[in-house]
Amino acid sequence: METVTSIVEMKRAAGSLRRGGRTVALVPTMGALHEGHLSLIRQADARANVVVVSIFVNPTQFGPSEDFDTYPRDLERDSELAQAAGCDIIFAPEVDDMYPASSATRVCVSGLTERLCGAFRPGHFDGVCTVVAKLFSIVRPHLAVFGQKDGQQVAVIERMVADLEMGVEIVRSPIVREPDGLAMSSRNAYLSGGERRDAVVLFESLKHAVSRYGAGERNVERIVSEMREMIEAKETTDIQYIAAVDARTLEDVDDAGEGVMLALAVFVGKTRLIDNVILGAE
Ligand code: AMP
Repeated sequence: METVTSIVEMKRAAGSLRRGGRTVALVPTMGALHEGHLSLIRQADARANVVVVSIFVNPTQFGPSEDFDTYPRDLERDSELAQAAGCDIIFAPEVDDMYPASSATRVCVSGLTERLCGAFRPGHFDGVCTVVAKLFSIVRPHLAVFGQKDGQQVAVIERMVADLEMGVEIVRSPIVREPDGLAMSSRNAYLSGGERRDAVVLFESLKHAVSRYGAGERNVERIVSEMREMIEAKETTDIQYIAAVDARTLEDVDDAGEGVMLALAVFVGKTRLIDNVILGAE
């Protein structure tokens, strides 16, 4: 496995892979890799000849009061894990190279980015789209793998790729969970013991929704209010939103049905966690 930090060198390597007829998959990450990321890398490895994993804590997707400075960084550990999962090239560029002082372009997807997390994290998806578009230009992958864990993010990326004819196949990879159901996240490390126990209620509320749907309930308002009640019963939780939307367009729906994504963002203590399920899919 190779580690590349220079953009010029990454472009050169990517160009020669393409010319050699190799299929290239990109897995964009911010590092602090866990089993969720590794499942994306394995998916990429199964679908392509060469797997590039980018590790870049992207400053433009963090708000001023968010955790950019304290976000966990450990390139050596990440490299070992990525390699074992099937990564061929780690691309770990510097912030100043990705965003030189002269850079003036932002990629902005409207509509989809204004709801759910976007309503509470202004500018977040502009940062995500800008960095992903730039990574696509540098690596020129045939396909890129994203986690369903960030359900809004993957829908926004799919829109961007279609609108700009980027010609990259976007693969959605299922959410990987801890044994008790908590969705894996680099931010779970911030939770205290009590918060970690309370955090399980996020998935429990989603599971409850799936079982109510399975039993024939179609009234979204009722399902969401039951979820809200379960989450609010825990001491350390503070709900930011619970929403029922079409998983691809992110438009609100009134009735529960196949392809509806129930998504939530909840503070557990000071840590903001997100999770979702797609009805009829799991
Ligand atoms: P991040 O490093 O948090 O930006 O995440 C990089 C990629 O890993 C994104 O596409 C995420 O959706 C995905 N990811 C993070 N956690 C999980 C998880 N628990 N299961 C599946 N994919 C995940």
